[in-house]
Amino acid sequence: MTLIQMTATELKAAIEQGQTSCVEITRAYLDEIGRVDARVNAYLWKGGQSALDAAQAVDERRTRGQDVGLLAGLPVAIKDLLCTRGLRTTCASRMLAEFVPPYDATVVQRIAQADGVLLGKTNLDEFAMGGSTENSAFGVTRNPWDLDRVAGGSSGGAAACVAASTAPLSIGTDTGGSIRQPAAFCGVSGLKPTYGRVSRYGLVAFASSLDQIGPLGWSVADLALLLEAIAGHDAADATSADVPVPAYTRTVNESLKGLKLGVPREHFDDGLDPAVAKLVQAAIDVYRQQGAEIREISLPHSRYAIAAYYIIAPSEASSNLARYDGAHYGYRTDEVKMMEEWESERKALEKAGDDAGLNALDSPLVRMYRRSRAEGFGAEVKRRIMLGTYALSAGYYDAYYLKALKVRRLIRDDYDRAFQEVDFIVGPVTPSPAFAVGAMIDDPLSLYLQDLFTVSANLAGIASLAIPCGLTEQGLPVGLQLQAPPFQEERLLRAGHMYQVETDWHRQRPQLP
Ligand code: GLN
Repeated sequence: MTLIQMTATELKAAIEQGQTSCVEITRAYLDEIGRVDARVNAYLWKGGQSALDAAQAVDERRTRGQDVGLLAGLPVAIKDLLCTRGLRTTCASRMLAEFVPPYDATVVQRIAQADGVLLGKTNLDEFAMGGSTENSAFGVTRNPWDLDRVAGGSSGGAAACVAASTAPLSIGTDTGGSIRQPAAFCGVSGLKPTYGRVSRYGLVAFASSLDQIGPLGWSVADLALLLEAIAGHDAADATSADVPVPAYTRTVNESLKGLKLGVPREHFDDGLDPAVAKLVQAAIDVYRQQGAEIREISLPHSRYAIAAYYIIAPSEASSNLARYDGAHYGYRTDEVKMMEEWESERKALEKAGDDAGLNALDSPLVRMYRRSRAEGFGAEVKRRIMLGTYALSAGYYDAYYLKALKVRRLIRDDYDRAFQEVDFIVGPVTPSPAFAVGAMIDDPLSLYLQDLFTVSANLAGIASLAIPCGLTEQGLPVGLQLQAPPFQEERLLRAGHMYQVETDWHRQRPQLP
């Protein structure tokens, strides 16, 4: 097995046994990035020499007999929605194309403290709004299993770099499925932790009450490793929970006895592709064979989840994105050109004696805001801002936003009820496997419906895991979703690992020509 074919856990063991070094590993990944990333386009920035230097420093400390951190010199790719000090953080938007943060996100800091090596920053849908990474201002990310298909989104780069063997571990974010859906499309594992489990400090906000940062990798054991490094309370994020972080890596191998799994009947109706249904059922059978009790359950309000999510997320986005006004930071329209046009409009109106026209003329400041936002944001981001602004506006607030919050509460209650009966909820991650690039680009509603099975976990704030559970006849990966009550990541990872002990879907890798 070559270095880039190993899981992060295996690489860590190989380093500890002196079979390889951090520099060798980092170089192997950089070489593979050079070989394939032009076709996959998972990376917006590649670490190169800086990654090798960081790896070298870890190797030297180890040679001197000093302690090294949990990540022990393993390369990690980071979604370009997390701030990195001195390194461009674009959010895949023209708006932040030149934005260089003066500080690191807490997660970035913790990875560095654990001796992880920053391998690169990965592509995403602009400001994480989307499910295909086609909304990136810097080109689509392609699915390593079939380059004509999408990698999913919004953490498309983070999933594709693992699938393409151009990173052993990556960090994504999940507001409505953005870790789990691309993980499923790319045949890798991904975890959306409980809301508050991981600090969001330094994460560029999309919908603050839903956003959560989480790990992607080949195996559940790899997720345990990365989660252990990043989880935990952070004084800089008031919503981060002060709940102790278990040693996930120590217990992930311990199987759980007497498991009760709930299968929501709402997840297996007409909307589900039969090929996905078949593989998910087969995965549930693996648990059954291990002695798990499988029960049908109901999440009656899940049918309203998409509607509630697509009110709440855009509402929060419209508020969060108000800061990009061309004045504070980010893109600003060409002011000289703008002022020349404004002056000549004004003069023409004066000359014509058009007082009404002069009164209606906007101020240069308003024009600067409008143009900067019109030129800086892409179409989907504008759509979300308009949806959210509408839902929050006087007269509509109660009918849309407030109503959606009430539905959100009912969805949470459904889960509370279900978790009194079962330990975990199992089902599909997505209604279908990865679709073709361009197939849904003019049909936002169909794209939104792809989030059918994932948004509820964000609305309820619970933990949710996606793991690969098979390939369709066309050779496309399918994901299994396991959901757990808040802060039960330790048990959730153990349950996911139990499946990977019995199967080897997490070991299947695409052959890139
Ligand atoms: N696809 C969903 C959306 O477009 C989820 C995105 C996310 O989780 N960041 O909003």
